[in-house]
Amino acid sequence: MFTRLSVVDEASRLVVGRGRRTPPPSSGQRSPRRDSSTPPYKTALASALLLFASTAFATDRPPNVILINCDDLGYGDLACYGAKDIRTPHLDRMAREGTRFTDFSVAAPLCTPSRAALMTGKYPGRTGRAIGVLRPKSTQGLAGSEVTLAEIVKPRGYATGCIGKWHLGFLPGMRPLDQGFDTYYGVLHNLDTPETAPFEAEGGIPILRGDQVEKRPAIPAEMTGLYTAEALAFIERNRDRPFFLYLAHAMPHLPFDASPAFKGKSPRGLYGDVVAELDDSTGRILERLRALGLAEQTLVIFTSDNGPERNTTGTAAPLRGTKHTVYEGGLRVPFIAWWPGRVPAGRVCDEFVTTLEILPTLAALAGNRTLPAGLDGFDLSPVLLGAPGARSPRTTLYSLYGYRANRRESFREGRWKLHVATPPELYDLTADPAESTNVAAQHPDLVARLTAAARQLRESTGIPATNPADPFDPPPAKAKKNAAKKSAP
Ligand code: MG
Repeated sequence: MFTRLSVVDEASRLVVGRGRRTPPPSSGQRSPRRDSSTPPYKTALASALLLFASTAFATDRPPNVILINCDDLGYGDLACYGAKDIRTPHLDRMAREGTRFTDFSVAAPLCTPSRAALMTGKYPGRTGRAIGVLRPKSTQGLAGSEVTLAEIVKPRGYATGCIGKWHLGFLPGMRPLDQGFDTYYGVLHNLDTPETAPFEAEGGIPILRGDQVEKRPAIPAEMTGLYTAEALAFIERNRDRPFFLYLAHAMPHLPFDASPAFKGKSPRGLYGDVVAELDDSTGRILERLRALGLAEQTLVIFTSDNGPERNTTGTAAPLRGTKHTVYEGGLRVPFIAWWPGRVPAGRVCDEFVTTLEILPTLAALAGNRTLPAGLDGFDLSPVLLGAPGARSPRTTLYSLYGYRANRRESFREGRWKLHVATPPELYDLTADPAESTNVAAQHPDLVARLTAAARQLRESTGIPATNPADPFDPPPAKAKKNAAKKSAP
């Protein structure tokens, strides 16, 4: 009953409030297609949503949620997103049985900022995590006062588990067990040299269980298998109560590698092998849910933290750009939602949605109506569950890539995407999703307005005007020298 009431509230809010929608573009610009609500439409939609809400949740038990977050998986790396040279039969089936989103963006094209936004529903600037990635010796992290995905479902009786890469702070007080997760298994860091080098003297980068070292060094080829086994055990262990599992794969971040059963099989080479193993992992998780009779009680989301790494065979095709850029290829990633009987099957959804929506959506599904202050995300559950006529409340997205000396910034409003640069770049994503034709010169007023909106967002979220030097993340040459010095006798 509690859950049902909360969904009615959310449905009403979506119809009546529409939250922080931005005004339509100035005259002469085509309106973003999400900005077309009218009073008669609202009345009809309100009735439809209320009817939907009264039938959407027939049970008092809130749903289990499994959030599978890959690391640096590109928009074009799955067969169901157009890859011709990587087989992903399990994810393709997941998409057929659920909904595949074609316009899902992360908040930033870099691990730490993207994960901070995912975990809190806030722009990375608001949590002080907009600039750079956290390295092992960093003394910073996500503040304990932030409410995380685990903490938003916990009051509703959820068991909460975190498996995999964290990257949101490494000191005691900043780790998963300090941020609402009952259990943790994984490597807090990346497995690349800047993050493994500091551990060389102590026997290699550790895999932790809770706060205890279970194994070292972590070996890239073993990670997907280890994390999958842990995920299956977590599901089994918590089968009789609501659970939230955050499964943050190490793959396909560099240095990617696959287990022997998958190696040498994909036409895309080792990268394809790695993605095939992630596909198999997801298939095993869905199969276990079916076998335990939990499929119809479990929402499973499969996504990525940002676009593919440069100079790998990962691809964001047909989008432009990669991780480390604010082109769509850095920000837009696969997003598949699966919940038999609840999330519509076989649907392809082109609504504009982002990472910021996940926390408010989980809160609504879990039935937690106490939301933290300062959220930037919207409850997406009416869209996710296919409420008649439901549209995404999101119209805008500010994105910053701030790493070492490099800085890139974009602001999207509906179909329009501005890159704040000299000269500015403006793209019409509806006509030109590959961001190939800069139309800034034809739309000076729109460029000026979006530039001001980007500045306003940047300033209001507390992002510094330039990237500060980070003593814990020296440039690669220096890091290499330091590592060599460390490993010398
Ligand atoms: Mg990443």
